[in-house]
Amino acid sequence: MAKPAKAASSAPLPPRTRAENNANKLVKLGLRTDMDLVLHLPTRYEDETQVFSIQQAAAMPNAQVEGVVTACEVQYRPRRQLVVTIADDSSQLTMRFLNFYGSQAKQLAEGTRVRARGEVRHGFFGAEMVHPNYKVVLEGAPLPTALTPVYPSGEGLSQAFLRKAIADAMARAVWHDTLPETLRASLKLAAFEPAVRLLHNPPADVDEGALEDRSHPAWVRMKFDELLAQQLSLKRAQAARRAKVANPLAQIGALSQKFLQGLPFSLTGAQQRVLAEIRADLRAVHPMQRLLQGDVGSGKTVVAALAAAQAIDSGFQAALMAPTEILADQHFRKIAAWMEPLGVKVAWLTGSLKKKEKAEAQARIESGEAQLVIGTHALIQEAVQFARLGLVIVDEQHRFGVGQRLALRNKGNKVVGLDALHTRGTVPHQLMMSATPIPRTLAMTYYADLEVSVIDELPPGRTPILTRVIDQERRDEVIARVHAAALEGRQVYWVCPLIEESEALQLQTATDTHATLAAALPDLRVGLVHGRLKPAEKQQVMDAFARGDTHVLVATTVIEVGVDVPNASLMVIEHAERFGLSQLHQLRGRVGRGAAASACLLLYQGPLGPTAKQRLHTMREYTDGFEIARIDLQIRGPGEFLGARQSGQAMLRFADLETDQWLVERARDAAQTLLRTDPATVEAHLARWLGVREDYLKV
Ligand code: ADP
Ligand code: MG
Repeated sequence: MAKPAKAASSAPLPPRTRAENNANKLVKLGLRTDMDLVLHLPTRYEDETQVFSIQQAAAMPNAQVEGVVTACEVQYRPRRQLVVTIADDSSQLTMRFLNFYGSQAKQLAEGTRVRARGEVRHGFFGAEMVHPNYKVVLEGAPLPTALTPVYPSGEGLSQAFLRKAIADAMARAVWHDTLPETLRASLKLAAFEPAVRLLHNPPADVDEGALEDRSHPAWVRMKFDELLAQQLSLKRAQAARRAKVANPLAQIGALSQKFLQGLPFSLTGAQQRVLAEIRADLRAVHPMQRLLQGDVGSGKTVVAALAAAQAIDSGFQAALMAPTEILADQHFRKIAAWMEPLGVKVAWLTGSLKKKEKAEAQARIESGEAQLVIGTHALIQEAVQFARLGLVIVDEQHRFGVGQRLALRNKGNKVVGLDALHTRGTVPHQLMMSATPIPRTLAMTYYADLEVSVIDELPPGRTPILTRVIDQERRDEVIARVHAAALEGRQVYWVCPLIEESEALQLQTATDTHATLAAALPDLRVGLVHGRLKPAEKQQVMDAFARGDTHVLVATTVIEVGVDVPNASLMVIEHAERFGLSQLHQLRGRVGRGAAASACLLLYQGPLGPTAKQRLHTMREYTDGFEIARIDLQIRGPGEFLGARQSGQAMLRFADLETDQWLVERARDAAQTLLRTDPATVEAHLARWLGVREDYLKV
C-alpha cells in the first residue's frame, strides 16, 4: 500500500500564537461564544478585599497580608527553595517557594512591597506561607471591592486569563432577559444581568454563605434558567420523537386472546390498567415511548408478553432484550412456554451462542420467520436485521447504558427484508421496564420524555416477606433454619458476599461457601451458580433449582435480577452490609413469590458503620420498593442512583437535583406553559443556554 507523501505531512505548521492556543483551550472548556463565557460562573471566591497585619494573620488559618521584602535568597537545604521574608509594622513572615523561576527571585528583591495570601503555618522561624498567592503592589494601592472569582479551568488556562476573557465577554454581551417579566415576577426570580454580574463580581458585603451553598437569589436565577432549558429541550425532543412514524399495531387478535385465556391466573387490576395504556399506544401511528414500572414480582413479564402478542397479531416482529443472560434465558423459557404452543416462532440470541447458531438465529430474524426475538444486548450489538420490527421491549432498562438504548432506538431505521417497503423510515414502538422506581425529580428530568405506567399492586396470595438482621456469629442457627425449611419442602437461596475488588475472590468465596454448606447439610442437595459458569452449566443449575431438585442454591449476585422460582421462600444474604439498598431489595424480591410465608435473613459482620446500619434497618422495616428507593436516594444522592451520566445531573452545571427539587418542578411547569404560549421565549432561552450542549441533552 502506498504511504501518503511524507513531505506533505511534515511541512511545518505555521507557529501558533498564544492567543490561538488560549482560544483553543477555551473551546475545550465548551466556551465558544460571549454568552458561553458570561455563563461560565465561578466555583468559589477568594476574599482579597481585606489586608490583615502579620501579627493578626498569625492567629488565622488563612489571610491576606501586605509587607516589604526584607530578605530574599535561594536556599539549598533541605532542598532548593526560594525563601522571602516580608515585614510590616507588626511582625514578619516567611514566604517559601519550592518551585520557582529565577525571575521570581529578581521580582521579589529587597524593598519590594507585596500582598500575599494563603494558608498561615507556624515554622521554626515564625509565621510562614508556602506557595502563597502574591502580587507586587505600590504603597497605598487600592484593595479590590469585590470577592475574587475562581473559575473552573482547563489545563494551562490561568485564572487571570479567564477573568480577563470573561470580563471582555461581559462588556460585549447582549444582555436581554430571556424570561418574560410576568414569569419572573410570579416566581420572584432575580433579573438576569444583575444576577450574572453579581456572581462574577460579588460585592464585599455579600452573604458569602449563600454564595457558597448556592442559595443566593442570583444562583437561584441561574439554576432556574438552566433547569428550564433542560425541560424545554427534553420536551422538544419528546415532541420530535412523537412526530416520527411507527407502524400501528392495530390487531388484538387470536394470539392475544388465546394467550390471556391460557394463563393460569387472571390479571390484577393494575396489570389490566397498564395493559390498556400500552394497547392504546401501540395502535398509534407514532412510536410508543413508555416506561413500565413495577416492584419486583409485580408481574411485568406477562404484560410485556401481551404487548408482544399484539405486535405479532398485527403481523410484526417483537424483540425483548434483557441485561443479563440469566434473565434473558428466564424470559425466553417462560415466554416460549406460553407462546410456542400457540404457534409463535421464538428466536434466541445472545453473545455466547456458537457462530453457527447465531447465524441461524439471525437468518430467521432477517427472513421474518422469527416473530419474537428474545436475548441480551447482543440484539443490538450483533449485525441483526429485522424483517419488520414493530415493538422493542427492554427489561430492567436502567441497567443498560444510554448508548445501548440509543442503538436500539435506531434499530427500526435499519430494517431490511421482505417488508422493507412497508417499514422503511419507521421506528419501532418501545416499552421499557424497570423494577427500580425512579424518584420523582429524576422522572421529571431524565425521564421527562417518557410516558410512565405503574403496576402498583402485587398479584394476590403473596405473603409478606419477613426480614431479619442477624449477626454473622449466629451462622450455625441460620444453617439449622435452612435445614428445617428444606425439610418442609421449601427452597433456599444463599447469596454470597459481594467482593467488589476482586472477582476471583468472590468466586473463591462462593465455592468455599458451597463446600461448607454441602458439608453442613449432608442430607440436602446444594447447588452453586456464579457468573463464571458457562451458559449451559448455568442453565443446568438453574433448571435443577426451578424443578425443585436442588434444596439450596448458593449464588453470587447473578441472581439479582428477575429470577423467578416461586417455591423458593427463604433467602440468606451474607455480608449484607456490603450491598446497596436497591440491590438488597432486588435480591429479596426473589423470594415471596409463592404462597408460602417467606423470609430473608441478612447476615452482617459488625461493627456496622452508620450508612450500613441505616440500610439494614431500612430493609427490616420496609418492603415497598418505592419507599426503599426514596430512602436510597436520600443516602446516596441522585448522581449515583442511576449512574452519573444517566441521572440527568450530568447535564446540569449549577442545579442539584436533590436540593433543588422545588425548582425542577417550577421549571417543568414554566416549560409547559412557554411551549404552549410563547415560542419566541422558548427559542431565545434555548439559544442562550444550550448552544453546543443540545446534542448531549437529547441523549
Ligand atoms: P416482575 O414484575 O418482577 O418482572 P414477574 O413478571 O416475573 O415479575 O412476575 C412474578 C411472578 O408472578 C411470576 O411467577 C408470574 O407468573 C406471576 N404473576 C404475574 N401476574 C400474576 C397475576 N395476575 N396473578 C398471579 N400471579 C401472577
Ligand atoms: Mg422481571
